Amino acid sequence: MPDYLDEVRETCIAGGDEGELASYIPELAAADPDRLAIALCTIDGTVYAVGDAEHRFTIQSLSKPFAYALALADRGLDEVLEHVSVEPSGDAFNEISIDREGRPRNPMINIGAITTHALVGDAEATAEESTARVIAGLSAFAGRELEVDEAVYASERESADRNMALAYMVRAQGKLQDAPRAAVDGYTRQCSVLVDVRDLAVMAMTLASSGRNPVTGEQVVPAWVCRQVLSVMATCGMYDAAGDWMSNVGIPAKSGVSGGVLGALPGQVGIGVFSPRLDGFGNSVRGVRACERLSRDMGLHLMQAP
Ligand code: GLN
Repeated sequence: MPDYLDEVRETCIAGGDEGELASYIPELAAADPDRLAIALCTIDGTVYAVGDAEHRFTIQSLSKPFAYALALADRGLDEVLEHVSVEPSGDAFNEISIDREGRPRNPMINIGAITTHALVGDAEATAEESTARVIAGLSAFAGRELEVDEAVYASERESADRNMALAYMVRAQGKLQDAPRAAVDGYTRQCSVLVDVRDLAVMAMTLASSGRNPVTGEQVVPAWVCRQVLSVMATCGMYDAAGDWMSNVGIPAKSGVSGGVLGALPGQVGIGVFSPRLDGFGNSVRGVRACERLSRDMGLHLMQAP
């Protein structure tokens, strides 16, 4: 398996170096654009990783499915659906995207993720308690204690005007539980958690194993939650490239602005890829390329009969 993954990595590099680093968060613009790491986690918890597998980067939007999972586990489906819908937005990740009932269109774009962050914990939870629960929950998905990159947090907090605008919009619709500043701060801390590709693969495999971490054995969230989260990842996880992704790769997935991509195929495999150059949708160019290869070679497309 490592030889095969090395070969996939080489092919992804040979495919070209197009794409741009995210620059609207100043700290992210300092990333080494040539890094490429790929990890796979199987259902028995075996992890294979190649490339810059030790390198840690901020999780960014890859945190969104896990925060959604925690909100569902804490509040139940009906209450979460009252606040955030599950429809693909067709808009960029940072758009004001709300439906006729005033709900953010889905939890995988910023406006829905800020709203979701505030729903983690019980109804009485303070904003700080929600954030602490999110970071502990992300750690349980990864099977180790994760830390926040304070420099990236400070950098994004300073340039969070757009997310603040989204939070005020949701608050005006009566759908945001916390004050906008507190919700955006908590969400920004959530995005600043440091992970490597092994963490991503284990986190993805936990979702793909009905909520049971295959390495630690912990039941992190109930099985029904994973079905809901994977469904929303399948339709909304790759922003407005979700349809292209589903037809080409066919794996529920999520991308993030630091260059991570994770894929979770129920009952089979968790995938984590890191490569910072992004395409016009905000998805990692080589991350997408690697997943296309893995899906094709291993017959991972959900819509393809075995
Ligand atoms: N923290 C980033 C933001 O809110 C996450 C966006 C992303 O990864 N696409 O803008």
